[in-house]
Amino acid sequence: MRFFFLVAGSLLLLCVHLPAAAAAGWTLTYAPAQIVNGSPVVIRVTIPRFVRSLTGVWLGHEFRFDFDERAKVWTALAGAGLETKAGSYAIELDAETPDGQAISWEKEIPVRWRRYPRVTLKVPERYTAPSAEEQREIEQDKKIKDEAFKTVSAGREWRGNFATPVAAKISEVFGVQRIFNGTVGATHQGLDFRVPTGTAVAAVNRGRVILARALFFEGNCVVIDHGQGLMTLYLHLSKFLVAEGDEVRKGQRIGLSGGTGRATGPHLHLAVRWQGEYLNPQVLLGLRLPDAGDSAKTSSRKKQTHN
Ligand SMILES: [Zn+2]
Repeated sequence: MRFFFLVAGSLLLLCVHLPAAAAAGWTLTYAPAQIVNGSPVVIRVTIPRFVRSLTGVWLGHEFRFDFDERAKVWTALAGAGLETKAGSYAIELDAETPDGQAISWEKEIPVRWRRYPRVTLKVPERYTAPSAEEQREIEQDKKIKDEAFKTVSAGREWRGNFATPVAAKISEVFGVQRIFNGTVGATHQGLDFRVPTGTAVAAVNRGRVILARALFFEGNCVVIDHGQGLMTLYLHLSKFLVAEGDEVRKGQRIGLSGGTGRATGPHLHLAVRWQGEYLNPQVLLGLRLPDAGDSAKTSSRKKQTHN
């Protein structure tokens, strides 16, 4: 009897680790291991047969997976918005076979709630109580940004891991609730690096410059479209080294850091935007991602097999 419970117990344990995946022959893994509100996430799916395409729907976002030939894995970048409450959210996966047959599968992905810290800041009055003229400028900027954010390149432009834009200490993490001059302001939707004015800022990955302009809050701001709804933003620059429409490589210098716009001093604010959600850049920079189309790199192959 004891033996039976032992067997049943270990079977149960197995089931917890390998749920429907084993039955359907599909597997799904994701990183980071613990997803919180504001986390980007890389999702990997293996399917024991050839399919033409794979799409996913999770937390109201629809996204396409790309096939990583080397690892034989379908991968996609997605994310849980800052407002996502703790819970288990089903991802719906839809694949299409070469003969046009649709296959669907669902799996729960848990999200934990993270409470981000609060900080108090002092900024010049005009940034918390802008004049009528400044208000018009802010509204104009909003239109410019919204127009840029509508840009969605269907194909994936990024390749492999994301690289840090500057080699510097972090001065402010993502998600912090900011209280400007005593008033609760917006959540800090990016990651701040402590760099003096004039430090070269590099593109975190391949993409196309969709915005390179001076804006009221952002200062001199560059936005790079990496495809599939993923963009990175670089704020408060002192100088632009790229123009709108430029194609950029990973690591390419796109500007020099500064303290333009609403900044308490010179620093680089890096933001990651995916399908309208601001996600934690620190998590994105730490993800190991497929290097599709760049097969000669043995080091990245090693990384793949350990994932
Ligand atoms: Zn910032």
